[in-house]
Amino acid sequence: MSGAPRLEINLDKIYHNAHTLVQRLEHSGISVTGVMKATLGSPDIAKVLLRAGVSSLGDSRIENIERMYNANLDSEIVLIRSPMITQAARVIKYADISFNTEIEVIRQLSIEAKKAERIHRVLLMVELGDLREGIMPDDLISVALETCYLPNIVLEGIGTNLACHSGVSPDANNMAMLTELANVIETSTNQSLNTISGGNSANLNWTFSGEDIGRVNNLRLGEAILLGRETLNRQAIADLHTDAITLFAEVIETKIKPSKPSGNIAQTAFGIKRTVTKHGRISQTILAVGIQDIDPEGLRGERGINICGASSDHLIVESEDNNLLIGSELTFQLNYSALLRAMTSPFIGKMLKH
Ligand SMILES: *Cc1c(COP(=O)(O)O)cnc(C)c1O
Repeated sequence: MSGAPRLEINLDKIYHNAHTLVQRLEHSGISVTGVMKATLGSPDIAKVLLRAGVSSLGDSRIENIERMYNANLDSEIVLIRSPMITQAARVIKYADISFNTEIEVIRQLSIEAKKAERIHRVLLMVELGDLREGIMPDDLISVALETCYLPNIVLEGIGTNLACHSGVSPDANNMAMLTELANVIETSTNQSLNTISGGNSANLNWTFSGEDIGRVNNLRLGEAILLGRETLNRQAIADLHTDAITLFAEVIETKIKPSKPSGNIAQTAFGIKRTVTKHGRISQTILAVGIQDIDPEGLRGERGINICGASSDHLIVESEDNNLLIGSELTFQLNYSALLRAMTSPFIGKMLKH
């Protein structure tokens, strides 16, 4: 399939990114969980990551976990979002490990694991300041103790997630806290923890800063692998490809139009007020892709192409060149938000390339 709109996904570049990160982190004793959610758990991409050396595959959605499980990938599969209690049986069936923050859910996992005669491993997520998921540090020991006693459940380790909800950066303080909590739990439960999962792509700067990484021995990486960027400042990571994935969209209209709208101005379809900066007439082009498929704020066009707006089904750009042909294609680079939406849009083709 080569029609537009489509994403072209270069597997060699993704392999290179994953392999480079795996190697660099191996020096610090850190394993990589390849986070698949932006690919909907694509088995083809999962295979590339496994070949590149990731130690497990992670996803936040049970549907993606099932897709990977059914592809017989020969890898540990980790549910990295706290399970929905109503999905506990599916979690037991398809995931080897799940991240958890509610003891009620872990109790249910234990019941289902016992029924299925399986052992399920639980990693407890700790709140260290970003205020998304996590058990408050003061409550961690009691949750860990009960987890250890639940039938068919093994306490795999602890982890944290920063930089997602409040933009809190991983640093010497919060990471040292994670190490300290790991030590305290080992003492109180009298068992050792396998995995201390320090975070996501936002942890890379801290990891490579040369600071003591304590007991952190795992990171969960999605964006850094797919887009080649760290996520605190969205800087390109040295020697990684930032263009492994490209969006192609087709031109359906191209005209010279006034830069300013005419008539009484109210809200637009999405409630956004348009600001007009230019004067005179401009060359305006419409592409057949829209807010259903992409986040227009997260796209970057080729040289000379400026994105000036989007509605459900139209992406509107201004171009310096006024003869973009009807039926021709323009390419765009995507940020994580645009990538997520494009990957999950049934209207966008996904073309895997080498
Ligand atoms: C999405 C997610 C990740 C991966 O984040 P990236 O920024 O893509 O590396 C890691 N951990 C959790 C819990 C996540 O939800």
